[in-house]
Amino acid sequence: MTGAHIEVDGVEVELVYKSIKRLRLSVRPPRGEVRVSAPIGTDPQFVVRLVRERIDWIRTHQRRIQELQRHGSPLMITGERLYVWGRQYQLVIVERPGRAQVTLDAGHLVLRVPVGTTADRTRRLLDGWYRIELQRAIPGVLRVWEPVVGAGATSWGIRRMRTQWGSCNVATGKIWLNLELARKDPESLEHVVVHELTHLLERGHGPRFKQLLGQAMPDWRARQRRLNASVVHPDIWELP
Ligand SMILES: [Zn+2]
Repeated sequence: MTGAHIEVDGVEVELVYKSIKRLRLSVRPPRGEVRVSAPIGTDPQFVVRLVRERIDWIRTHQRRIQELQRHGSPLMITGERLYVWGRQYQLVIVERPGRAQVTLDAGHLVLRVPVGTTADRTRRLLDGWYRIELQRAIPGVLRVWEPVVGAGATSWGIRRMRTQWGSCNVATGKIWLNLELARKDPESLEHVVVHELTHLLERGHGPRFKQLLGQAMPDWRARQRRLNASVVHPDIWELP
């Protein structure tokens, strides 16, 4: 859907008329595009006034989006969509006294944090939770797939990697898995584990590697396509 474009104090705004009751203003990744959804018949001058009133808020959030997008980090704002094991959840941040807590509840990823917790701190809490999710899942995946591949990892670890889903040290037999895999579907974790285990038998990505991988996991190409296609998720949030 495309709407009219208006410019307000140097900020380009897409105005979309919909059969809704209330105006909605959103700043969207990846570049901080501003969109106003307005009830049909709303006076454009009313929209211009609203945008002008919110212009500082808009600019602040545009800067924030651009900065975070550069690092590939979530924004940690209620309403933002995040992924857990390939399923989309809406982030809800609840400030309340007591210990921080992360729970999944009917389509919501709820983070309960002490009042005044910064976005960076909240992001670290969520990363810690993703790490625990992976730590729980990996042993079972190894148990199932090591006999299938015919190779075993001596140990494993989780870390953030910019350009790889996994890696392995052939000399020590240790495999590393990307923390991001907790956001992807469980089939992706299996695929990456099988890929790294196969490297323990064959270093490169040559014909022998592909043959061994195909024997262990005949649908690895489809899994790889899905994983690579999932890299950028449209995270959208709206003005609270
Ligand atoms: Zn590889």
